[in-house]
Amino acid sequence: MATITTITPIEYLKGVGPQKADVLKKELQLFTMLDLLQYYPFRYIDRTQFHKIRQLHSDMVGAQVIGRLLSLQEVGDKRAKRLVGTFRDETGSMELVWFQSVAWLKKSLKVGAPYIIYGKPTEFNGQISMTHPEMDLYNSGEKRVGNMTMQPVYSSTEKLKKFNLDSKGIQKLQQTALETLYNNLQETLPPYIIAQHDLMDYKTALLTIHFPQHVMDLNAAVRRLKFEELFFIQLRLLRNKQLNTQKYRGHRFRAVGEKFLTFFNDKLPFPLTGAQKRVIKEIRIDTNTGAQMNRLVQGDVGSGKTVVALMSMLLAVDNGFQACMMAPTEILATQHYIGLKALLGDAVCSIKLLTGSTSAKERRIIHQQLEDGSLDILIGTHALIEDKVRFKNIGFVVIDEQHRFGVEQRAKLWRKNTIPPHMLVMTATPIPRTLAMTMYGDLDISVIDELPAGRKPIKTVHFFENQRLRVFGFMREEIAKGRQVYIVYPLIKESEKMDLLYLEAGLESLQREFPLPQFKISIVHGKMPVKEKDFEMQRFVKGETQIMVATTVIEVGVNVPNASVMVIENAERFGLSQLHQLRGRVGRGAEQSFCVLMSGSKLSREGRTRLETMVRTNDGFEIAEVDLQLRGPGDISGTQQSGVLDMKIADIAKDQQILAEARETVIAIFKKDASLSTPENALLLQYLNQRSPGISWDKIS
Ligand code: ADP
Ligand code: MG
Repeated sequence: MATITTITPIEYLKGVGPQKADVLKKELQLFTMLDLLQYYPFRYIDRTQFHKIRQLHSDMVGAQVIGRLLSLQEVGDKRAKRLVGTFRDETGSMELVWFQSVAWLKKSLKVGAPYIIYGKPTEFNGQISMTHPEMDLYNSGEKRVGNMTMQPVYSSTEKLKKFNLDSKGIQKLQQTALETLYNNLQETLPPYIIAQHDLMDYKTALLTIHFPQHVMDLNAAVRRLKFEELFFIQLRLLRNKQLNTQKYRGHRFRAVGEKFLTFFNDKLPFPLTGAQKRVIKEIRIDTNTGAQMNRLVQGDVGSGKTVVALMSMLLAVDNGFQACMMAPTEILATQHYIGLKALLGDAVCSIKLLTGSTSAKERRIIHQQLEDGSLDILIGTHALIEDKVRFKNIGFVVIDEQHRFGVEQRAKLWRKNTIPPHMLVMTATPIPRTLAMTMYGDLDISVIDELPAGRKPIKTVHFFENQRLRVFGFMREEIAKGRQVYIVYPLIKESEKMDLLYLEAGLESLQREFPLPQFKISIVHGKMPVKEKDFEMQRFVKGETQIMVATTVIEVGVNVPNASVMVIENAERFGLSQLHQLRGRVGRGAEQSFCVLMSGSKLSREGRTRLETMVRTNDGFEIAEVDLQLRGPGDISGTQQSGVLDMKIADIAKDQQILAEARETVIAIFKKDASLSTPENALLLQYLNQRSPGISWDKIS
């Protein structure tokens, strides 16, 4: 048979065979030898530490004890059958309990024999016990397997266990795989990088992670493998970025022209913040290089992204191009249109709105003007993407609230000109730096990290249900001052019916507390027809109603500067970034604004951390960081589809330092050797040419 290498299918490994290979594929997505070797333990049992039964307590994550199994007894009836053993050492005794595999364990465990056991101590009425401990017969004379000090634990499944592939079974496979492959394992990183970063070599790292002898070695192995993983992700991302710039010629905006300057000098009603100026400058530089720009602008709610977008579009118009801006909802598109038109006045350039409810007649005019070039700027919803919408010469596209749009939609905008337009994607969901580096590593990123001057930070407070009357009183005071109030209820798919009931109940009590005709209430939720929703929204926007009761449909971008209070019901059920987005609906005017988080008295630890974080800070980036730590990267919006977070060992939330190191290394490599053509980088080029193309910009949405 041919030599076994890392790409050999897993069934050729001794002891695997077609059946086991099949479950390994289905259960763990392990196809090749390398897949298996990269199936790392998720924890280790420290086999050097032993405890006496008297020392055990329930705060321990796990403990290893040597003792004797004194008795074993099946108790309970059919459905609640369990196996209970008594285990004892010279300091005391405890119960061992099993709920699964009772018959088999009863047969195989030897009453009276000495065992080394490992498990999590739990305490009940002062009695220590362990549930489902690992049991190993103890032979005091015997040398332990391979002198192992740290025993790896692999996660397994019920199905795998049926094929003897529990943690120990997987460990055996790893042993066979390493024995078979060890001599053929090729180093993946060039020697100079290994030396530069003082990394363990590849072979040793793989061996060590599966069969560690000492904690120190293990740490070095883990660091090496994490570095490698993050390094290659960055290598692919930055390579793609490089290729994109080479591949796509871009329109050149050579000059800052009359429209831009007229707007800047005569129309702009406020001075730009430093951050806004910086980002506009970045865009100006980008659009004058001859390559297509793909830039992501991150800026907290209210940081003033719209003006940045407008001035960029004017730059395009000044250079003889058209521009468009796409928003995820009709309400937002309309608001952008009204806002931008007000800022521009009539003189500067022509601007129109295209949405699903634009009349056929108006639509025809817009199509005509786009094609003959008399329309400069078009604002709209998805309607912009339709094939019927053709531009004479589009040069700049803005996409607001980026995570709502899919890949295809963006690609369609690319194709609206022979040379693709520059793309500016704006998001109000701050993404932690490390996550951005990984998800958008091949986009240029601008950050608007400064709020316009004079903005009063929103005051956030947390109230429990029993303090509701105070909240009502406070709302009344604010409304008496002429302000408006949002009240938001969770509406979560899984519990939609209950949620709607809560909303209705809440609404009833509100209507009692805030009766007509003095008070008027708008209601908006996702189940309403669009027309009705818009109507209710508009009433609130115009100030005809003082209270807006809503589910999260108002989350995105709605601007009502006169609204100064945001009450969030069942706040503990919202995610952090969602809470932050909601809070951003207020604090848009000159008045002091407030956010009231209502919750029940029983809070999970995580729920409490979320609410405390909201009360402590208004900084979206700080909040995003906490969110990342709490939930892990997989749950942060937009990361699921990207595929870049499918990592074997690195963890974006915890390995920020290594990530930064890996990225800087890659940047330095490309700086010195852009085409990776020197011999010392041959391995890297080979990697890029061999592996799947990885993530490309337009795969990320
Ligand atoms: P977002 O970044 O959330 O999209 P907007 O662009 O809607 O924020 O801006 C929020 C509000 O702040 C708008 O009313 C806008 O006119 C105003 N604004 C923007 N930039 C400035 C600035 N530099 N100084 C004062 N107000 C500003
Ligand atoms: Mg906005």
